[in-house]
Amino acid sequence: MASYDIVAVGGGLAASALAKTMAAHGARVLVVEREREFRDRVRGEALAPWGVAELDALGLLDAVGPAIADELRTWRLFVGGTQVSEWPFEPTTLQRRNWLAFYHPAAQRACLDAAERAGACVMRGARVTAIRPGSSPSVVLEQDGRREDVAARLVVAADGRGSAARGLDGFETRRDPEKLLFAGVYLERVGLDPGHFYQFSDPFRGRIAYVFPQRDGRARCYVGWNQAADLPRLQGEASFPAFRAQAEDTGVPPRRSATRASPARSPPSTGRTPGSSIPTATASRSSATRR
Ligand SMILES: Cc1cc2nc3c(=O)[nH]c(=O)nc-3n(C[C@H](O)[C@H](O)[C@H](O)COP(=O)(O)OP(=O)(O)OC[C@H]3O[C@@H](n4cnc5c(N)ncnc54)[C@H](O)[C@@H]3O)c2cc1C
Repeated sequence: MASYDIVAVGGGLAASALAKTMAAHGARVLVVEREREFRDRVRGEALAPWGVAELDALGLLDAVGPAIADELRTWRLFVGGTQVSEWPFEPTTLQRRNWLAFYHPAAQRACLDAAERAGACVMRGARVTAIRPGSSPSVVLEQDGRREDVAARLVVAADGRGSAARGLDGFETRRDPEKLLFAGVYLERVGLDPGHFYQFSDPFRGRIAYVFPQRDGRARCYVGWNQAADLPRLQGEASFPAFRAQAEDTGVPPRRSATRASPARSPPSTGRTPGSSIPTATASRSSATRR
């Protein structure tokens, strides 16, 4: 049976950061990731200054740096559709840094590549189907119809929000009460100045919207609302007109040319070519999520 010091279940930012660091310190690390190519998901794409400092401390800032990420230098706050402030991050944050905006699948790939360069072994298109805890833990993994048992001194379950590993005996799942609902989409031709974090607030109606510009005129946009507002859940392609209406109703400037960006199965171009569009495949989803 193959054996490692650490087997990480999942190849997201958490597992790849761990794998990169531990492999650089001499540990034999295996990362098992079920996706061959990372797909668009409504996920973290705006990294706060403290997170950027952590990235630097982990030696990952070069990987998730200018090649794939752009700085957001100020926080533009709008209330009721009117801009009320603009706050610069670098001079006002403890870390003296700006936010970083990037396309999540590109960051996942960059961090996983960095883990591999540090010496970690990365298996793509492989799924962990069982974890056997205990004093000599092991995992069962499947790839291309083959099953394999792999032993590890430590198994790290970094399998994300829908973690199956947390179903193991001994782990209890706790949830905070739901208060806010968010829906997010990936847009192109948004027409807002890049380099800024946009927050649109309508506190009297318990609504909020965020726009995080990325390169090439694309942006990740969210609308959020208090559960008490009793608004319909926004999910799937058909909800996009309602998403747009809710964003504008929260103060986001109307921009008819803004359209859903097609999901990129591969990371978007690293060059700055305005107007270039990412490959069209299946339609990306807007989804509501609880926070
Ligand atoms: C809507 C939303 C918005 C967010 N916005 C922000 C933000 O703006 N800024 C920010 O910093 N954070 C944000 N976050 C949080 C951030 O995205 C997450 O904390 C982070 O991506 C979690 O990384 P992870 O590696 O733990 O999990 P994931 O990124 O979910 O990675 C888990 C990986 O495990 C793989 N996997 C799962 N099961 C198996 C298995 N059995 N075998 C093999 N592989 C498996 C999956 O394919 C996946 O690649 C947001 C989260 C959400 C949901």
